[in-house]
Amino acid sequence: MAFTAVELIEAKRDGRELSPKAIEWLIERYTAGDLPDYQMAALAMAIFLKGMSSAELAAWTTAMLHSGEVFDLTDIVAAKVDKHSTGGVGDKISIPLAPLVASVGVVVPMMSGRGLGHTGGTLDKLETIPGFTTRLEPDRFREVLSNHGMVFAGQTETLVPADRKLYALRDATATVPSLPLISSSIMSKKLAEGLDGLVLDVKTGSGAFMKDLEGSRLLAHTMVEIGARHGVRTIALITGMDQPLGLEVGNANEIRESIDVLRGEGPADVVELTMSLGEVMMELAGIDGGRATLEDAIDSGQALQKLTDVVAAQGGDPSFIEDPGLLPKCSQEAVVTAPIGGFVTRCDALTIGVVATRLGAGREHQEDMIDPGVGITLEAKVGDRVEAGQPLARVQYNESARWQAQQESLASAWAIEDTSPDPQDLVIERIEAS
Ligand code: URA
Repeated sequence: MAFTAVELIEAKRDGRELSPKAIEWLIERYTAGDLPDYQMAALAMAIFLKGMSSAELAAWTTAMLHSGEVFDLTDIVAAKVDKHSTGGVGDKISIPLAPLVASVGVVVPMMSGRGLGHTGGTLDKLETIPGFTTRLEPDRFREVLSNHGMVFAGQTETLVPADRKLYALRDATATVPSLPLISSSIMSKKLAEGLDGLVLDVKTGSGAFMKDLEGSRLLAHTMVEIGARHGVRTIALITGMDQPLGLEVGNANEIRESIDVLRGEGPADVVELTMSLGEVMMELAGIDGGRATLEDAIDSGQALQKLTDVVAAQGGDPSFIEDPGLLPKCSQEAVVTAPIGGFVTRCDALTIGVVATRLGAGREHQEDMIDPGVGITLEAKVGDRVEAGQPLARVQYNESARWQAQQESLASAWAIEDTSPDPQDLVIERIEAS
């Protein structure tokens, strides 16, 4: 059947449904470079405005998934399970989680991204360890995965190439926050990994893509259904992202905190989320024992040993795991103090994430360099009681001009009131296919 791009854009613009064949044709032509960016941009905007039916979403995701290589990991008999987070501030969970669950038998081909905007990226954090590489040739990827039961890798050039092009285009055309485009983008990449199970950490709150619970629920349901339709059992946890996770924000800082978790010394919220996601990964892999087994793996040191082994296998210097004090640091430190005494009722994830990015911990544009030592150490989070003058945060930076420009903004992240706020659940809901 012959299609023309203009007719298909027109159809979507007017709210008509695109057939699976038309969608396949569009994605194929776009990946091959035969459909120009300006037509795909118009189509993305039409999708942003009109949405997609579930049949369209299924066809779109399948076409994206098959735009490149699909991993075949069937020679590894054990269940392969990955985790994906929709992104947050201080979200370092993948770093302790992958070695923890791998140390109890889950096989984790973990594919992560880089930080963009106010959220950090697992790859940037791991690369603060000297020598560590996440750019692995396919043979090396398989070797690390079969020898250690896990691997930390970046997206390859050949995996879902349609998404590489489309994501950059969406970024430049204000079409990123579209539920069908986000869910197909995330799930096509995860499905291309050749998984048996997937756990999704769908964030909700100020520091998340989806600011409200309704939107996060819809995103979670949509992705879980896509997973089920492709035969990958997918479970989503909706988790809070109104304030940063843990006490550390910034690349080297978050590696230090991840090591703390594996030493049994992590902050309560990071430990809780690592355990909750870990239990789901074990369930998806059919491994019994749940949280008690994970706790044993931390107490015995086997989870930390797994991280050390994988760091060495991927070219990193394991002495940085043994002594995280060696990780990059900044030359300057500033302290943000409480203007009044009372209870912290807000410690805003978005504000803190944006300030950390602007100080150099993240990228505002894809080509920006990050400063691995830049970070913010939180001294007071929601529910804590503080006295006037008490530290709320310590800020590590290298460029004074940048800090001066962010000082006021960072101080506005906290609200302090007379009464203590109601405690909020970190894990809000679990969603799986009906
Ligand atoms: N992450 C992705 O991989 N894709 C999106 O569209 C949004 C977040």
